[in-house]
Amino acid sequence: MQEQTRSIVQLSLDALMQDPTFISDLEGETREKAFVSLAAILSTPNKIHKSFLRIPLEDGRVVRIPAFRVHHNDALGPYKGGIRFHESVNEEEVINLAFLMTLKNALHGVPFGGGKGGIVLNPRERTEKELNLISKKYVQYFADVIGPDKDIPAPDAGSGEREMDWMMAEYKSIKPGLPYRGSFTGKSVLNGGSLGRREATGKGVYFTYRYMMHDYINKNREELASLNNPFAVTALQASNRPLKIAVQGFGNVGSVTALEAFQCPLLQNKVVAVSDRNITLFNENGLDIPSLIEFTAKNKGELPSSGHALTESGVRAELLGRDDLLTLDVDVLMLAALEDQIHSGNVEEIKASIIVEGANAPVTSEADDYLNKRGVIIVPDILANAGGVIVSYFEWLQGRETQFYSEDQIFEKLFEKMQHTMDMILPRYFGDPHPLRQNCYIHSVMKLSTILYKQGKLY
Ligand code: GLU
Repeated sequence: MQEQTRSIVQLSLDALMQDPTFISDLEGETREKAFVSLAAILSTPNKIHKSFLRIPLEDGRVVRIPAFRVHHNDALGPYKGGIRFHESVNEEEVINLAFLMTLKNALHGVPFGGGKGGIVLNPRERTEKELNLISKKYVQYFADVIGPDKDIPAPDAGSGEREMDWMMAEYKSIKPGLPYRGSFTGKSVLNGGSLGRREATGKGVYFTYRYMMHDYINKNREELASLNNPFAVTALQASNRPLKIAVQGFGNVGSVTALEAFQCPLLQNKVVAVSDRNITLFNENGLDIPSLIEFTAKNKGELPSSGHALTESGVRAELLGRDDLLTLDVDVLMLAALEDQIHSGNVEEIKASIIVEGANAPVTSEADDYLNKRGVIIVPDILANAGGVIVSYFEWLQGRETQFYSEDQIFEKLFEKMQHTMDMILPRYFGDPHPLRQNCYIHSVMKLSTILYKQGKLY
């Protein structure tokens, strides 16, 4: 995964190097050296903070839990990114996720840099009291490197409002006198969180898909038809008929994405499959998403995974294996679980012609190459799942201004920002043979490079 990001950044830099208008006041060898510096700055994090959190468990044992906070780059503003609570967290992964945050914020014009945190644990195996202690310890260990103008953490897989509330409270008591509300985002509304933050990522994922595959295509149909571009062909074919959608992951992102798709009045699409960590539910006539959300709310966030549970939920569906979702005969895959879900082992069986990345890095680089060659449209993570960090930015602003926006205002501002990014990127994407991921990276790298150059960091 790390390699993929690096190589696309290098490709973006190569493309920029060929563009004589870019940092045109530098020439010859000086310009070449500036590009070497850029590659070094972008492909390595500024700092890696790590520690072991010493936690006395409720059963009397004491464990030492590895924890990380990575500062990738802060040229655009304070470091920003979630804290992942997951048993598979490791240093390389956190570095790469921090890198993606730098690119994501640059792409959407959010004035933050990129950071990420991680704690190696399975939150399902810990009691609430233990999770509270772990969250507080994390803040105690990293209090000096986070803060409202330094590094603003947020939720990620395995963490949510509850953890952010605990962390903000701990930060407030360790660092009195600072505008503590701006130290964490993704908090509960009562604790200074923003309306709409919880739904922001999922709503943004579906909005990206809808705008790109419907609004944008309809606005530019004739022009797209005249282009000899494989991705434009895929988009035009898909826009002519109702599509079957499968959503992988039914947590904070997947469930909201699925609900948006279910409710969307514009498109005659059907959500035919959803999955979680246990199973896939499939119904070719469409699933009743609101009833599934109701069921998960009462059942520790899990989808019905037996015939009995299905009857209880009132949902008509067939039960399939967890990973069966990926290879179903559907048109659209919305990936909202974890990374590396489509890989060299299953890519040849993928039937969808559109893939939307709600999770970070759910497609490996080999799979990405293979699918791009087949003309599959992959809407990359940094474009599609930025709703969370964009509304985090609104939350941070509201914390400073002590002024609050209504939920409608938040979504209006969110969609406006995401649409603005797409209007900038899509004409170029459909006009050249490069995948959308690369077009997005080029844009982010160009922005970061210009800023780094203006900040005198390339000498
Ligand atoms: N964890 C989310 C992401 O990967 C949100 C980060 C934030 O709000 O800072 O984009």
